[in-house]
Amino acid sequence: MEPSEQFCPNSTCCARGQIGQGNIVIHDRKRQRYRCKICQQTFSARRGTMFEGLRTSTELVVIVVTLLAFGCPVQAIVQAYGLDERTVASWRERAGAQCQRVHQAIVEQGQLELIHVQVDEIRVKARSMVAWMGLAMMVSTRLWLGGVVSRTRDTSLADRLLQQVRACSQAACALLVCTDGWAAYVRRVGVYEIPVRHGRGREQEPLGQELTRRGNSMATVACS
Ligand SMILES: [Zn+2]
Repeated sequence: MEPSEQFCPNSTCCARGQIGQGNIVIHDRKRQRYRCKICQQTFSARRGTMFEGLRTSTELVVIVVTLLAFGCPVQAIVQAYGLDERTVASWRERAGAQCQRVHQAIVEQGQLELIHVQVDEIRVKARSMVAWMGLAMMVSTRLWLGGVVSRTRDTSLADRLLQQVRACSQAACALLVCTDGWAAYVRRVGVYEIPVRHGRGREQEPLGQELTRRGNSMATVACS
């Protein structure tokens, strides 16, 4: 347990959210609880994480979520660890929600100097349905900026994805967005489109060859 890395989660405490102020101490090492010296409230070490309220060991949950993230079938996990299928599903939901919160708290803070962003969509075929996953990546660091899942590949998908990109970007900076040529992005980010040669392989790539492998249209946008 590391009190210096914790903060008081009590919404009425004046020290809420402040790390390294010396107000958090270990309350109960066995039960993994901290205490705030200002408001005197105790809280679990799992507070604010995907493990909050779970009685299962952290190690097992981490293993299961890691397997899911790498595409391991739920049935394989159920058989291997003797878990209920609904339990595995709920951990997956918890992990997803936590990742979204962390992404919003750290990445979507308007602090990134993006300069160059690549966006693309993946068509996912499932049983009796097709879904689209739109993804945006900061090119220089390979940082994922956003992802949107939609039943249809429409302007709403492009809108939501680019809203996430804007939330990550510093204000009032020019941004180069490379796409697969889908016009929705160009209309949405608007402003200025740079035509790029169409062709196969390197013929169609004006810059950043390995990054715009399928790129045949680009747009610049002023984030504000
Ligand atoms: Zn407190």
